[in-house]
Amino acid sequence: MADCIFCKIGNKEIPSTVVYEDDDFLAFRDINPVAPTHVLLIPKKHYSSLLDLSEDDADLMGRMMTLVPKIVKQLGIDEGFRVVINTGAKGGQTVFHLHIHLLGGRVFNWPPG
Ligand code: 5GP
Ligand code: ZN
Repeated sequence: MADCIFCKIGNKEIPSTVVYEDDDFLAFRDINPVAPTHVLLIPKKHYSSLLDLSEDDADLMGRMMTLVPKIVKQLGIDEGFRVVINTGAKGGQTVFHLHIHLLGGRVFNWPPG
């Protein structure tokens, strides 16, 4: 996707602070953190949002989910953390390349506050 900022971060056209990388995924620190630890996990392949997924993506998305425990342990937030996928403008999504927010380092309450 030519003008997608996270595609550019994924292919290193735009620098980021990388915390995990393999052939298919990249995790990097959010430029505007809302928690002491705030990392974004993306597939390098472009999907606009969760709504883009179909059955064909089950393997890739399954592997993405299994990276969460690995990355949060590496970050030292495995005592408690929040996983967020904002979807659509009304869901708070501002970058339209699928990403998982990994938030930790503070206590979270539900509902948000
Ligand atoms: P969304 O609102 O779409 O769920 O999350 C997008 C996130 O991307 C925001 O938390 C925002 O701070 C982060 N972000 C936007 N542009 C950049 C960037 O160029 N670099 C990094 N590291 N994070 C970004
Ligand atoms: Zn993209």
